[in-house]
Amino acid sequence: MTEETIFSKIINGTIPSTLIYHDDLVSAFADINPKAEHHILIVTNKPIPSVSDVTAADEPALGRLFTVAAKLARDFKVDQSGYRLIINCGPDGGQEVPHIHMHFLAGGKLGGLGFPEKH
Ligand code: 5GP
Repeated sequence: MTEETIFSKIINGTIPSTLIYHDDLVSAFADINPKAEHHILIVTNKPIPSVSDVTAADEPALGRLFTVAAKLARDFKVDQSGYRLIINCGPDGGQEVPHIHMHFLAGGKLGGLGFPEKH
């Protein structure tokens, strides 16, 4: 049995969030501490702890992260101008929540690699 995470509680509605997207495999909601004008977390519904834990069975959900990122890019009208996708992995990678998630960041020039400067 995989452990419930803070993101599981957001997905099942126990913790409130600005839910932007939900389907059978992934959910997307606004990051509570945005680092860009648009900072969305796209999360697998299954609480896989990290990329290091994925198996071939997870490929549909992992692929869906990108499909939803592309949809968000179109919705925010940044699909041509650009945006950034980040997946932090493990302690040294800066991962705080042990539940696979892709950061979708957009809104103007984002600068160098990593999270944009806070504004
Ligand atoms: P990580 O560092 O694991 O890649 O990113 C975790 C992200 O989750 C952070 O950007 C943080 O702001 C966000 N976060 C943590 N707790 C909550 C929460 O309760 N609600 C929402 N919406 N975002 C959260």
